[in-house]
Amino acid sequence: MPEDAGSYRYSAVMMGSPILLKLFQPDETLARRVFQLIKQLENLLTVNRSPSQVMAINQAAGRHAVSVSLPVYQLIKLAREASLIPGGCFNFAIGPLVKRWKIGFQGHSVPPADDIARLLPLINPRDIELDDATQSVFLRHVGMEIDLGAIAKGWIADRVQDYLRQQGVDQALINLGGNVQTLGSPPHAHRWNWRVGLQKPFASRETLIGTIDVAAMSVVTSGVYERFFLLNGHHYHHILDPATGYPLDNELLSVTVVSRRSVDGDIFTTLLYGMGIGRGCQMLQGYTDIEAVFVTRDLRVICSSRRLFDFTLTDKQYRMASD
Ligand code: ADP
Ligand code: MG
Repeated sequence: MPEDAGSYRYSAVMMGSPILLKLFQPDETLARRVFQLIKQLENLLTVNRSPSQVMAINQAAGRHAVSVSLPVYQLIKLAREASLIPGGCFNFAIGPLVKRWKIGFQGHSVPPADDIARLLPLINPRDIELDDATQSVFLRHVGMEIDLGAIAKGWIADRVQDYLRQQGVDQALINLGGNVQTLGSPPHAHRWNWRVGLQKPFASRETLIGTIDVAAMSVVTSGVYERFFLLNGHHYHHILDPATGYPLDNELLSVTVVSRRSVDGDIFTTLLYGMGIGRGCQMLQGYTDIEAVFVTRDLRVICSSRRLFDFTLTDKQYRMASD
């Protein structure tokens, strides 16, 4: 039986993305509460409008530390640790560059090289000081900005999972526009259970390269086709290389991460982008509960391993390969 058998779907548009909640008991009230929770959590983290705790930190850059709530502090601490992993390109201090490029927003442009050179010294994650005792965050220099855009959805997906469990729900799926978190497995499923599509780059959202089958796992994809602009035949996408200040330029079109926590999936998609396939797969050998699917410009699909999921290729242009 398909996983959808007997499911109830609730949808909304939030954080600029379509959000889907699948339950196996009809519960309009619960769905409404989940959407409210997503909104509240987003308001804590956004860097695009006040008041948010992260905005307050950014506005005090170079002046003073700002104390934040425990969950936000813990997320920032996690983001800082991930930003210090050698060879990865995840960097939560990337804010000044994201704001300058405005990729995915109105007014995007290619900044003059001088501007980029001037901003690079403002994105050093070591210049973000954390103090556990006061749960406070201090950006050492004026102009520094935290950006949690790469991990906000993952963190929120995990909080939704916690909330659903508290409410006694053990079988559900939440899709926050590219971040899928699954609870348990669907009641009528066989084998791996939930089936999550791997989107075909630069095709319509419904067009898939293949499918990923998982149970009780998060599936997160980050792709160069998500938000980008074209100028003079050049493709500028929204994942920036902290080393150069320009969009990452390598053989990858997308990275999908299967993990227990969605926030890990979010961190690893960006980290692995920077590492590439060889080094990325090597790194993943040290993690038993995180795996990745890489899609390359030359139409290859590479799985780091397949302990946590099953992958079925359906597109004829792509082929399975090993690194
Ligand atoms: P989406 O799921 O919206 O496609 P991603 O999870 O791929 O987004 O994250 C992209 C966002 O992360 C960017 O829009 C920007 O806010 C931020 N970002 C860009 N480059 C980096 C980076 N190197 N490290 C951390 N965050 C980044
Ligand atoms: Mg992400």
